[in-house]
Amino acid sequence: MEKRYCLHCKERLEGRRDQKYCNPICRSAYHRKLKLESSVQSAIHKILRKNYIILEELFTHMPFDQHQITSTKIKLASKGFNFEYCTRVYQNNRGKWYRYVYEYSWMEFSNQKVIIYRQKDW
Ligand SMILES: [Zn+2]
Repeated sequence: MEKRYCLHCKERLEGRRDQKYCNPICRSAYHRKLKLESSVQSAIHKILRKNYIILEELFTHMPFDQHQITSTKIKLASKGFNFEYCTRVYQNNRGKWYRYVYEYSWMEFSNQKVIIYRQKDW
């Protein structure tokens, strides 16, 4: 017979085949954790989405072949851009960091300047 384990504490289960938890305490702890994770995820998703929309809007009225825009940290922050959240980071061979929100990326400079890039082939 297949071994089964409590979804919360990972203890071996010996009861009914459809049993998922050792007891009601583990069941409610598991559901509490799922709920917490999902609220954290949706909060992060909301920030990333806002960042994405802000970067996308910068390129809205730009020619299709323009892939770079210069702005400032203050301007972006005033639109609600959150510099702490991105989908990936990349450091080039000169040590500069690119931060991405999907196909958009930005590079920050010490003088508050920010260069925003739109990736060509996404
Ligand atoms: Zn358990």
